[in-house]
Amino acid sequence: MTPNRETELLADVPDGLFIGGRWRPAQDGATFTVQDPSNGETIKTIASASVADGKAALDAAVDAFPAWAATPARERAELLRRAFDLLQERKEDFALLMTLEMGKPLAEARGEVGYGGEFLRWFSEEASRIQGRYGPNPEGTGRMIVSQHPVGPCYLITPWNFPLAMATRKIAPALAAGCTVVVKPAGLTPLTTLAFAKLLEDAGLPAGVVNVVTTTSSGPVSEEIIRDPRLRKLSFTGSTPVGQRLLEQAASGVLRTSMELGGNAPFVVFDDADLDKAVEGAIAAKFRNIGQACTAANRFIVHRAVADEFARRVTERVNGFGIGRGTEDGVTIGPLIDDRAVEKAAQLVEDAVGRGATLRTGGRAIDRPGTFYEPTVISDVPAGSDILREEIFGPVLAIIPFDDEDDAVRLANDTEYGLVSYVYTESLARGQRMIDRLETGMMGLNMGVVSNAAAPFGGWKFSGLGREGGAEGIHEYLQTKYTLTADP
Ligand code: NAD
Repeated sequence: MTPNRETELLADVPDGLFIGGRWRPAQDGATFTVQDPSNGETIKTIASASVADGKAALDAAVDAFPAWAATPARERAELLRRAFDLLQERKEDFALLMTLEMGKPLAEARGEVGYGGEFLRWFSEEASRIQGRYGPNPEGTGRMIVSQHPVGPCYLITPWNFPLAMATRKIAPALAAGCTVVVKPAGLTPLTTLAFAKLLEDAGLPAGVVNVVTTTSSGPVSEEIIRDPRLRKLSFTGSTPVGQRLLEQAASGVLRTSMELGGNAPFVVFDDADLDKAVEGAIAAKFRNIGQACTAANRFIVHRAVADEFARRVTERVNGFGIGRGTEDGVTIGPLIDDRAVEKAAQLVEDAVGRGATLRTGGRAIDRPGTFYEPTVISDVPAGSDILREEIFGPVLAIIPFDDEDDAVRLANDTEYGLVSYVYTESLARGQRMIDRLETGMMGLNMGVVSNAAAPFGGWKFSGLGREGGAEGIHEYLQTKYTLTADP
Protein backbone atom coordinates (compact mmCIF):
# COMPACT_ATOMS: atom_id res chain seq x y z
CA MET A 1 0.00 0.00 0.00
CA THR A 2 1.72 3.18 -1.07
CA PRO A 3 1.09 6.44 0.82
CA ASN A 4 0.43 7.98 -2.61
CA ARG A 5 -2.58 5.79 -3.13
CA GLU A 6 -3.87 6.78 0.31
CA THR A 7 -3.36 10.48 -0.46
CA GLU A 8 -5.18 10.21 -3.77
CA LEU A 9 -8.03 8.26 -2.25
CA LEU A 10 -8.49 10.77 0.58
CA ALA A 11 -8.32 13.70 -1.84
CA ASP A 12 -11.24 12.18 -3.77
CA VAL A 13 -13.51 12.05 -0.72
CA PRO A 14 -15.82 15.10 -0.65
CA ASP A 15 -15.18 17.48 2.25
CA GLY A 16 -18.56 19.24 2.26
CA LEU A 17 -22.10 18.61 3.42
CA PHE A 18 -24.35 16.91 0.87
CA ILE A 19 -27.64 18.81 0.85
CA GLY A 20 -30.26 18.89 -1.91
CA GLY A 21 -27.90 17.22 -4.37
CA ARG A 22 -25.11 19.76 -3.83
CA TRP A 23 -21.85 19.63 -1.92
CA ARG A 24 -21.42 22.72 0.21
CA PRO A 25 -19.45 24.02 3.19
CA ALA A 26 -21.13 24.63 6.54
CA GLN A 27 -22.99 27.95 6.56
CA ASP A 28 -20.67 29.29 9.26
CA GLY A 29 -17.59 27.79 7.59
CA ALA A 30 -16.89 25.43 10.54
CA THR A 31 -14.74 22.35 9.94
CA PHE A 32 -13.28 19.44 11.90
CA THR A 33 -10.53 16.91 11.36
CA VAL A 34 -10.57 13.14 11.00
CA GLN A 35 -7.68 11.05 12.38
CA ASP A 36 -6.08 7.74 11.49
CA PRO A 37 -6.25 5.83 14.81
CA SER A 38 -3.19 3.77 13.92
CA ASN A 39 -0.90 6.81 14.21
CA GLY A 40 -3.03 9.76 15.34
CA GLU A 41 -2.35 11.70 12.13
CA THR A 42 -4.99 13.95 10.62
CA ILE A 43 -6.14 12.52 7.31
CA LYS A 44 -8.82 14.99 6.24
CA THR A 45 -10.59 18.21 7.23
CA ILE A 46 -14.33 18.32 6.50
CA ALA A 47 -17.35 20.55 7.07
CA SER A 48 -19.00 20.62 10.48
CA ALA A 49 -22.73 21.26 10.14
CA SER A 50 -24.52 23.79 12.33
CA VAL A 51 -28.14 23.54 13.44
CA ALA A 52 -29.06 25.68 10.39
CA ASP A 53 -27.31 23.20 8.07
CA GLY A 54 -29.17 20.32 9.68
CA LYS A 55 -32.43 22.13 9.08
CA ALA A 56 -31.46 22.79 5.44
CA ALA A 57 -30.78 19.06 5.01
CA LEU A 58 -34.21 18.23 6.41
CA ASP A 59 -35.79 20.88 4.13
CA ALA A 60 -34.17 19.10 1.16
CA ALA A 61 -35.41 15.67 2.30
CA VAL A 62 -38.93 17.05 2.82
CA ASP A 63 -38.95 18.71 -0.63
CA ALA A 64 -37.71 15.56 -2.37
CA PHE A 65 -40.13 13.21 -0.60
CA PRO A 66 -43.33 13.45 -2.73
CA ALA A 67 -41.54 12.76 -6.03
CA TRP A 68 -39.41 9.94 -4.60
CA ALA A 69 -42.41 8.32 -2.89
CA ALA A 70 -44.23 8.41 -6.24
CA THR A 71 -41.27 6.97 -8.19
CA PRO A 72 -42.10 3.43 -9.36
CA ALA A 73 -40.61 0.77 -7.10
CA ARG A 74 -38.71 -0.69 -10.04
CA GLU A 75 -36.87 2.61 -10.58
CA ARG A 76 -36.02 2.89 -6.89
CA ALA A 77 -34.78 -0.70 -7.04
CA GLU A 78 -32.63 0.02 -10.08
CA LEU A 79 -30.92 2.93 -8.36
CA LEU A 80 -30.00 0.64 -5.44
CA ARG A 81 -28.80 -2.04 -7.83
CA ARG A 82 -26.57 0.46 -9.66
CA ALA A 83 -25.20 1.52 -6.29
CA PHE A 84 -24.46 -2.14 -5.48
CA ASP A 85 -22.63 -2.59 -8.79
CA LEU A 86 -20.61 0.61 -8.33
CA LEU A 87 -19.66 -0.48 -4.83
CA GLN A 88 -18.24 -3.72 -6.22
CA GLU A 89 -16.15 -1.68 -8.68
CA ARG A 90 -14.92 0.58 -5.88
CA LYS A 91 -14.53 -2.19 -3.33
CA GLU A 92 -10.81 -1.66 -2.74
CA ASP A 93 -11.23 2.11 -2.30
CA PHE A 94 -14.00 1.72 0.26
CA ALA A 95 -12.05 -0.95 2.14
CA LEU A 96 -8.94 1.21 2.34
CA LEU A 97 -10.93 4.27 3.37
CA MET A 98 -12.50 2.37 6.28
CA THR A 99 -9.13 1.04 7.38
CA LEU A 100 -7.70 4.57 7.32
CA GLU A 101 -10.43 6.26 9.34
CA MET A 102 -11.48 3.41 11.61
CA GLY A 103 -8.42 1.14 11.89
CA LYS A 104 -9.83 -2.30 11.06
CA PRO A 105 -7.55 -4.68 9.13
CA LEU A 106 -7.95 -4.39 5.38
CA ALA A 107 -9.26 -7.95 5.01
CA GLU A 108 -12.05 -7.17 7.47
CA ALA A 109 -12.76 -3.86 5.73
CA ARG A 110 -13.20 -5.80 2.48
CA GLY A 111 -15.57 -8.09 4.34
CA GLU A 112 -17.57 -5.06 5.44
CA VAL A 113 -17.82 -3.81 1.84
CA GLY A 114 -19.25 -7.23 0.97
CA TYR A 115 -21.68 -7.21 3.90
CA GLY A 116 -22.64 -3.54 3.51
CA GLY A 117 -23.18 -4.00 -0.21
CA GLU A 118 -25.60 -6.85 0.36
CA PHE A 119 -28.11 -4.44 1.91
CA LEU A 120 -28.18 -2.53 -1.39
CA ARG A 121 -28.78 -5.72 -3.35
CA TRP A 122 -31.28 -7.20 -0.88
CA PHE A 123 -33.42 -4.05 -0.64
CA SER A 124 -33.24 -3.43 -4.38
CA GLU A 125 -34.95 -6.83 -4.59
CA GLU A 126 -37.41 -6.09 -1.78
CA ALA A 127 -38.53 -2.72 -3.23
CA SER A 128 -40.79 -4.26 -5.82
CA ARG A 129 -42.31 -6.70 -3.29
CA ILE A 130 -44.05 -4.09 -1.14
CA GLN A 131 -47.55 -5.47 -1.13
CA GLY A 132 -50.93 -5.14 0.52
CA ARG A 133 -54.06 -7.24 1.02
CA TYR A 134 -57.55 -7.18 -0.38
CA GLY A 135 -60.54 -9.15 0.81
CA PRO A 136 -64.05 -9.20 2.17
CA ASN A 137 -64.68 -8.23 5.80
CA PRO A 138 -66.06 -11.05 7.97
CA GLU A 139 -69.56 -9.55 7.93
CA GLY A 140 -69.59 -9.65 4.15
CA THR A 141 -70.64 -5.99 4.03
CA GLY A 142 -67.50 -4.47 2.56
CA ARG A 143 -64.08 -5.06 1.07
CA MET A 144 -60.92 -4.28 2.99
CA ILE A 145 -57.81 -2.92 1.28
CA VAL A 146 -54.60 -2.87 3.30
CA SER A 147 -51.83 -0.86 1.65
CA GLN A 148 -48.27 0.16 2.55
CA HIS A 149 -46.90 3.70 2.25
CA PRO A 150 -43.49 5.24 2.89
CA VAL A 151 -43.37 6.86 6.35
CA GLY A 152 -41.82 10.10 5.08
CA PRO A 153 -38.52 11.92 5.65
CA CYS A 154 -36.19 9.95 7.94
CA TYR A 155 -33.20 10.84 10.09
CA LEU A 156 -30.50 8.16 10.20
CA ILE A 157 -27.69 8.26 12.79
CA THR A 158 -24.81 5.79 12.48
CA PRO A 159 -21.88 4.77 14.72
CA TRP A 160 -18.17 4.67 13.92
CA ASN A 161 -17.51 0.94 14.16
CA PHE A 162 -18.99 -0.21 10.82
CA PRO A 163 -18.90 3.00 8.77
CA LEU A 164 -20.30 1.52 5.55
CA ALA A 165 -22.59 -1.31 6.64
CA MET A 166 -24.44 0.72 9.28
CA ALA A 167 -25.17 3.36 6.60
CA THR A 168 -26.34 0.97 3.86
CA ARG A 169 -28.39 -1.05 6.38
CA LYS A 170 -30.51 2.09 6.91
CA ILE A 171 -30.29 3.98 3.59
CA ALA A 172 -31.13 0.99 1.37
CA PRO A 173 -34.45 0.01 3.03
CA ALA A 174 -35.44 3.67 3.41
CA LEU A 175 -34.92 4.36 -0.30
CA ALA A 176 -36.51 1.07 -1.31
CA ALA A 177 -39.63 2.01 0.69
CA GLY A 178 -39.84 5.45 -0.97
CA CYS A 179 -38.49 7.52 1.92
CA THR A 180 -35.99 10.36 1.72
CA VAL A 181 -33.27 10.69 4.35
CA VAL A 182 -30.83 12.85 6.23
CA VAL A 183 -27.83 10.80 7.35
CA LYS A 184 -25.53 11.78 10.19
CA PRO A 185 -22.45 9.57 10.43
CA ALA A 186 -20.27 9.41 13.55
CA GLY A 187 -17.78 12.25 13.79
CA LEU A 188 -14.91 9.78 14.20
CA THR A 189 -15.52 8.04 10.84
CA PRO A 190 -17.54 10.31 8.54
CA LEU A 191 -15.48 9.82 5.35
CA THR A 192 -16.99 6.49 4.26
CA THR A 193 -20.51 7.97 4.32
CA LEU A 194 -19.35 10.98 2.28
CA ALA A 195 -17.75 8.65 -0.28
CA PHE A 196 -20.92 6.58 -0.31
CA ALA A 197 -23.09 9.67 -0.95
CA LYS A 198 -20.84 10.44 -3.92
CA LEU A 199 -21.31 6.88 -5.15
CA LEU A 200 -25.09 7.30 -4.92
CA GLU A 201 -24.79 10.56 -6.86
CA ASP A 202 -22.84 8.69 -9.55
CA ALA A 203 -25.56 6.02 -9.57
CA GLY A 204 -28.15 8.69 -10.47
CA LEU A 205 -29.61 9.65 -7.09
CA PRO A 206 -32.20 12.44 -7.47
CA ALA A 207 -31.38 15.64 -5.55
CA GLY A 208 -32.49 15.66 -1.92
CA VAL A 209 -33.31 11.94 -1.63
CA VAL A 210 -30.18 11.37 0.49
CA ASN A 211 -28.58 14.24 2.40
CA VAL A 212 -25.49 13.95 4.60
CA VAL A 213 -24.54 16.15 7.52
CA THR A 214 -21.21 15.66 9.25
CA THR A 215 -20.80 17.56 12.49
CA THR A 216 -19.11 17.86 15.83
CA SER A 217 -22.40 19.14 17.28
CA SER A 218 -24.39 15.90 17.06
CA GLY A 219 -26.58 16.77 20.05
CA PRO A 220 -28.00 20.17 18.99
CA VAL A 221 -28.10 19.38 15.24
CA SER A 222 -29.94 16.11 15.88
CA GLU A 223 -32.39 17.50 18.41
CA GLU A 224 -33.50 20.24 16.00
CA ILE A 225 -34.11 17.67 13.26
CA ILE A 226 -35.80 15.13 15.55
CA ARG A 227 -38.17 17.69 17.06
CA ASP A 228 -39.19 19.05 13.63
CA PRO A 229 -42.75 17.83 12.98
CA ARG A 230 -41.95 17.22 9.30
CA LEU A 231 -39.62 14.35 10.26
CA ARG A 232 -41.48 11.03 10.47
CA LYS A 233 -38.85 8.47 11.40
CA LEU A 234 -35.66 8.17 13.42
CA SER A 235 -33.30 5.26 12.96
CA PHE A 236 -30.34 5.17 15.33
CA THR A 237 -27.44 2.79 15.80
CA GLY A 238 -25.19 3.50 18.74
CA SER A 239 -24.95 3.23 22.49
CA THR A 240 -27.96 2.61 24.73
CA PRO A 241 -27.63 5.85 26.77
CA VAL A 242 -27.67 8.02 23.62
CA GLY A 243 -30.51 5.92 22.18
CA GLN A 244 -32.56 6.47 25.34
CA ARG A 245 -32.06 10.23 25.11
CA LEU A 246 -33.09 10.26 21.43
CA LEU A 247 -36.20 8.20 22.20
CA GLU A 248 -37.29 10.93 24.62
CA GLN A 249 -36.81 13.53 21.92
CA ALA A 250 -38.64 11.37 19.38
CA ALA A 251 -41.64 11.16 21.69
CA SER A 252 -42.47 14.81 21.03
CA GLY A 253 -43.20 14.06 17.37
CA VAL A 254 -44.56 10.53 18.01
CA LEU A 255 -41.86 9.36 15.60
CA ARG A 256 -41.47 5.87 14.30
CA THR A 257 -38.13 4.74 15.73
CA SER A 258 -35.64 1.97 15.12
CA MET A 259 -32.96 1.58 17.78
CA GLU A 260 -29.95 -0.67 17.31
CA LEU A 261 -28.20 -0.26 20.65
CA GLY A 262 -25.50 -1.83 22.78
CA GLY A 263 -24.88 -5.49 23.55
CA ASN A 264 -23.31 -7.74 26.16
CA ALA A 265 -23.33 -11.03 24.27
CA PRO A 266 -22.90 -14.29 26.16
CA PHE A 267 -20.90 -16.99 24.39
CA VAL A 268 -21.87 -20.28 26.03
CA VAL A 269 -19.70 -23.37 25.55
CA PHE A 270 -21.20 -26.62 26.89
CA ASP A 271 -19.10 -29.64 27.78
CA ASP A 272 -20.61 -31.48 24.78
CA ALA A 273 -19.41 -28.79 22.35
CA ASP A 274 -16.95 -29.45 19.54
CA LEU A 275 -14.10 -27.45 21.07
CA ASP A 276 -12.36 -26.84 17.74
CA LYS A 277 -15.51 -25.19 16.41
CA ALA A 278 -16.04 -23.29 19.65
CA VAL A 279 -12.51 -21.86 19.61
CA GLU A 280 -12.87 -20.85 15.96
CA GLY A 281 -16.23 -19.20 16.66
CA ALA A 282 -14.87 -17.49 19.78
CA ILE A 283 -12.01 -15.88 17.87
CA ALA A 284 -14.43 -14.50 15.26
CA ALA A 285 -17.09 -13.44 17.78
CA LYS A 286 -14.56 -11.69 19.99
CA PHE A 287 -11.79 -10.25 17.86
CA ARG A 288 -13.55 -9.26 14.63
CA ASN A 289 -13.37 -5.47 14.31
CA ILE A 290 -10.81 -5.51 17.17
CA GLY A 291 -13.65 -6.39 19.54
CA GLN A 292 -15.54 -3.22 18.63
CA ALA A 293 -18.84 -4.71 17.50
CA CYS A 294 -22.25 -4.60 19.17
CA THR A 295 -22.38 -8.33 18.42
CA ALA A 296 -18.95 -8.99 19.97
CA ALA A 297 -19.01 -11.81 22.52
CA ASN A 298 -18.56 -10.08 25.86
CA ARG A 299 -18.77 -12.95 28.35
CA PHE A 300 -17.45 -16.46 27.63
CA ILE A 301 -19.53 -18.73 29.82
CA VAL A 302 -17.75 -22.07 29.61
CA HIS A 303 -18.55 -25.40 31.32
CA ARG A 304 -16.06 -26.02 34.11
CA ALA A 305 -15.02 -29.37 32.59
CA VAL A 306 -13.68 -27.68 29.44
CA ALA A 307 -12.98 -24.13 30.68
CA ASP A 308 -9.26 -24.62 31.18
CA GLU A 309 -8.74 -26.31 27.83
CA PHE A 310 -10.81 -23.63 26.10
CA ALA A 311 -8.77 -20.87 27.78
CA ARG A 312 -5.51 -22.57 26.81
CA ARG A 313 -6.54 -22.91 23.17
CA VAL A 314 -7.88 -19.37 22.71
CA THR A 315 -4.78 -17.98 24.42
CA GLU A 316 -2.58 -19.87 21.98
CA ARG A 317 -4.51 -18.36 19.06
CA VAL A 318 -4.40 -14.86 20.53
CA ASN A 319 -0.64 -15.08 21.01
CA GLY A 320 -0.33 -15.65 17.27
CA PHE A 321 -2.20 -12.46 16.27
CA GLY A 322 -0.44 -9.83 14.15
CA ILE A 323 -0.84 -6.35 15.63
CA GLY A 324 -0.34 -3.17 13.61
CA ARG A 325 -1.78 -0.75 11.11
CA GLY A 326 -4.67 -2.38 9.26
CA THR A 327 -3.01 -1.80 5.90
CA GLU A 328 -0.04 -4.05 6.77
CA ASP A 329 0.04 -7.68 5.68
CA GLY A 330 -0.72 -10.24 8.37
CA VAL A 331 -2.35 -7.77 10.76
CA THR A 332 -5.46 -9.10 12.53
CA ILE A 333 -5.57 -6.58 15.38
CA GLY A 334 -5.52 -2.89 14.49
CA PRO A 335 -5.84 0.10 16.82
CA LEU A 336 -8.84 0.86 18.97
CA ILE A 337 -10.82 3.90 17.86
CA ASP A 338 -9.40 6.36 20.43
CA ASP A 339 -7.71 6.87 23.80
CA ARG A 340 -10.97 6.48 25.69
CA ALA A 341 -11.46 3.01 24.24
CA VAL A 342 -7.95 1.97 25.36
CA GLU A 343 -8.56 3.41 28.80
CA LYS A 344 -11.85 1.53 29.11
CA ALA A 345 -10.35 -1.84 28.14
CA ALA A 346 -7.49 -1.27 30.58
CA GLN A 347 -9.85 -0.37 33.44
CA LEU A 348 -12.10 -3.38 32.87
CA VAL A 349 -9.15 -5.78 32.86
CA GLU A 350 -7.60 -4.15 35.92
CA ASP A 351 -10.89 -4.38 37.81
CA ALA A 352 -11.35 -8.09 36.98
CA VAL A 353 -7.76 -9.03 37.77
CA GLY A 354 -7.93 -6.97 40.98
CA ARG A 355 -10.91 -9.11 42.02
CA GLY A 356 -9.01 -12.34 41.37
CA ALA A 357 -9.37 -13.15 37.63
CA THR A 358 -6.39 -14.88 36.00
CA LEU A 359 -4.57 -12.92 33.30
CA ARG A 360 -3.65 -15.45 30.58
CA THR A 361 -2.17 -13.07 28.03
CA GLY A 362 -2.11 -9.36 27.15
CA GLY A 363 -3.51 -6.87 29.62
CA ARG A 364 -1.72 -3.67 28.64
CA ALA A 365 -1.93 -0.71 26.31
CA ILE A 366 0.78 -0.94 23.66
CA ASP A 367 3.44 1.73 23.80
CA ARG A 368 3.52 2.96 20.20
CA PRO A 369 1.88 5.75 18.20
CA GLY A 370 -1.86 5.25 17.77
CA THR A 371 -4.35 3.73 20.18
CA PHE A 372 -3.47 0.05 20.57
CA TYR A 373 -4.38 -2.41 23.33
CA GLU A 374 -2.98 -5.92 23.56
CA PRO A 375 -5.38 -8.73 22.68
CA THR A 376 -6.12 -10.17 26.09
CA VAL A 377 -7.52 -13.33 27.68
CA ILE A 378 -8.66 -13.47 31.31
CA SER A 379 -10.25 -16.47 32.99
CA ASP A 380 -12.11 -17.26 36.23
CA VAL A 381 -13.62 -13.79 36.18
CA PRO A 382 -15.37 -13.33 39.54
CA ALA A 383 -19.05 -12.34 39.81
CA GLY A 384 -19.43 -8.61 40.31
CA SER A 385 -16.59 -7.68 37.93
CA ASP A 386 -17.39 -4.62 35.80
CA ILE A 387 -16.43 -6.53 32.64
CA LEU A 388 -19.46 -8.81 33.06
CA ARG A 389 -21.84 -5.87 33.15
CA GLU A 390 -20.35 -3.40 30.67
CA GLU A 391 -19.84 -3.57 26.94
CA ILE A 392 -16.05 -4.07 26.55
CA PHE A 393 -15.69 -2.82 22.97
CA GLY A 394 -12.10 -4.00 22.84
CA PRO A 395 -10.00 -7.15 22.28
CA VAL A 396 -10.52 -8.70 25.71
CA LEU A 397 -11.83 -12.26 26.07
CA ALA A 398 -13.25 -12.89 29.55
CA ILE A 399 -14.07 -16.45 30.70
CA ILE A 400 -16.45 -17.44 33.49
CA PRO A 401 -16.93 -21.14 34.38
CA PHE A 402 -20.38 -22.70 34.97
CA ASP A 403 -21.57 -26.03 36.37
CA ASP A 404 -24.92 -26.91 34.80
CA GLU A 405 -27.38 -25.76 32.16
CA ASP A 406 -29.53 -23.69 34.52
CA ASP A 407 -26.41 -21.96 35.79
CA ALA A 408 -25.35 -21.15 32.20
CA VAL A 409 -28.78 -19.72 31.35
CA ARG A 410 -28.85 -17.62 34.52
CA LEU A 411 -25.39 -16.18 33.82
CA ALA A 412 -26.15 -15.58 30.13
CA ASN A 413 -29.40 -13.70 30.86
CA ASP A 414 -27.91 -11.72 33.75
CA THR A 415 -27.68 -8.44 31.79
CA GLU A 416 -30.03 -5.68 30.74
CA TYR A 417 -28.87 -6.16 27.15
CA GLY A 418 -30.33 -8.71 24.72
CA LEU A 419 -28.79 -8.34 21.29
CA VAL A 420 -27.17 -11.68 20.47
CA SER A 421 -26.03 -14.88 22.14
CA TYR A 422 -23.75 -17.65 20.97
CA VAL A 423 -24.17 -21.27 22.00
CA TYR A 424 -21.86 -24.18 21.31
CA THR A 425 -23.26 -27.67 21.87
CA GLU A 426 -23.47 -30.82 19.78
CA SER A 427 -26.85 -31.65 21.34
CA LEU A 428 -29.79 -30.65 19.16
CA ALA A 429 -32.19 -30.81 22.12
CA ARG A 430 -29.99 -28.54 24.22
CA GLY A 431 -29.58 -26.12 21.31
CA GLN A 432 -33.35 -25.93 20.93
CA ARG A 433 -33.79 -25.34 24.66
CA MET A 434 -31.32 -22.48 24.44
CA ILE A 435 -33.35 -20.85 21.63
CA ASP A 436 -36.27 -20.75 24.06
CA ARG A 437 -34.33 -19.76 27.15
CA LEU A 438 -31.82 -17.08 26.11
CA GLU A 439 -33.21 -13.54 26.09
CA THR A 440 -31.65 -12.18 22.90
CA GLY A 441 -32.97 -11.05 19.52
CA MET A 442 -30.40 -13.18 17.68
CA MET A 443 -28.50 -16.37 18.34
CA GLY A 444 -25.51 -18.12 16.80
CA LEU A 445 -25.89 -21.86 17.34
CA ASN A 446 -22.42 -23.27 16.71
CA MET A 447 -21.79 -20.07 14.73
CA GLY A 448 -19.62 -17.12 15.81
CA VAL A 449 -20.99 -14.53 13.35
CA VAL A 450 -24.70 -14.12 12.59
CA SER A 451 -25.00 -10.90 10.55
CA ASN A 452 -26.65 -11.30 7.16
CA ALA A 453 -28.55 -8.80 5.00
CA ALA A 454 -31.36 -11.33 4.51
CA ALA A 455 -31.94 -11.76 8.27
CA PRO A 456 -33.75 -9.55 10.80
CA PHE A 457 -30.97 -7.98 12.87
CA GLY A 458 -31.94 -6.47 16.20
CA GLY A 459 -32.12 -6.82 19.95
CA TRP A 460 -34.38 -7.46 22.91
CA LYS A 461 -34.42 -5.59 26.21
CA PHE A 462 -32.04 -2.58 26.35
CA SER A 463 -30.47 -3.56 23.00
CA GLY A 464 -33.14 -1.88 20.97
CA LEU A 465 -36.33 -1.67 18.99
CA GLY A 466 -37.10 -2.78 15.45
CA ARG A 467 -35.18 -4.87 12.94
CA GLU A 468 -32.75 -4.10 10.12
CA GLY A 469 -32.33 -6.42 7.17
CA GLY A 470 -34.50 -9.32 6.08
CA ALA A 471 -38.10 -8.96 5.00
CA GLU A 472 -38.68 -7.05 8.25
CA GLY A 473 -36.15 -4.30 7.43
CA ILE A 474 -38.26 -2.49 4.84
CA HIS A 475 -41.33 -2.43 7.08
CA GLU A 476 -39.49 -0.11 9.45
CA TYR A 477 -39.89 2.51 6.70
CA LEU A 478 -43.48 1.73 5.70
CA GLN A 479 -46.77 2.64 7.33
CA THR A 480 -49.99 0.74 6.92
CA LYS A 481 -53.29 2.10 5.67
CA TYR A 482 -56.54 0.18 5.86
CA THR A 483 -59.39 1.26 3.61
CA LEU A 484 -62.93 -0.09 3.76
CA THR A 485 -64.85 0.02 0.51
CA ALA A 486 -68.48 -0.78 -0.03
CA ASP A 487 -69.32 -4.24 -1.27
CA PRO A 488 -69.69 -4.00 -5.04
P1 NAD B 1 -22.60 6.60 20.32
O1 NAD B 1 -23.94 6.37 20.93
O2 NAD B 1 -21.61 7.41 21.08
O3 NAD B 1 -22.77 7.35 18.92
C1 NAD B 1 -23.57 6.83 17.89
C2 NAD B 1 -23.98 7.99 17.00
O4 NAD B 1 -24.75 8.92 17.74
C3 NAD B 1 -22.82 8.79 16.41
O5 NAD B 1 -23.17 9.23 15.12
C4 NAD B 1 -22.73 9.96 17.36
O6 NAD B 1 -22.15 11.10 16.75
C5 NAD B 1 -24.18 10.20 17.65
N1 NAD B 1 -24.45 10.90 18.90
C6 NAD B 1 -23.73 10.89 20.05
N2 NAD B 1 -24.33 11.64 20.98
C7 NAD B 1 -25.46 12.14 20.41
C8 NAD B 1 -26.53 12.98 20.87
N3 NAD B 1 -26.55 13.47 22.10
N4 NAD B 1 -27.52 13.26 20.01
C9 NAD B 1 -27.52 12.75 18.77
N5 NAD B 1 -26.56 11.96 18.27
C10 NAD B 1 -25.55 11.66 19.09
O7 NAD B 1 -22.04 5.18 19.92
P2 NAD B 1 -20.66 4.84 19.20
O8 NAD B 1 -19.59 4.94 20.22
O9 NAD B 1 -20.51 5.60 17.93
O10 NAD B 1 -20.90 3.32 18.79
C11 NAD B 1 -20.72 2.29 19.66
C12 NAD B 1 -22.04 1.82 20.23
O11 NAD B 1 -22.92 1.48 19.15
C13 NAD B 1 -21.92 0.57 21.05
O12 NAD B 1 -22.75 0.65 22.19
C14 NAD B 1 -22.43 -0.53 20.11
O13 NAD B 1 -22.93 -1.66 20.75
C15 NAD B 1 -23.48 0.20 19.37
N6 NAD B 1 -23.75 -0.44 18.08
C16 NAD B 1 -24.93 -1.13 17.96
C17 NAD B 1 -25.20 -1.79 16.79
C18 NAD B 1 -26.47 -2.56 16.64
O14 NAD B 1 -26.82 -2.86 15.50
N7 NAD B 1 -27.20 -2.90 17.70
C19 NAD B 1 -24.29 -1.75 15.72
C20 NAD B 1 -23.10 -1.05 15.88
C21 NAD B 1 -22.86 -0.38 17.08
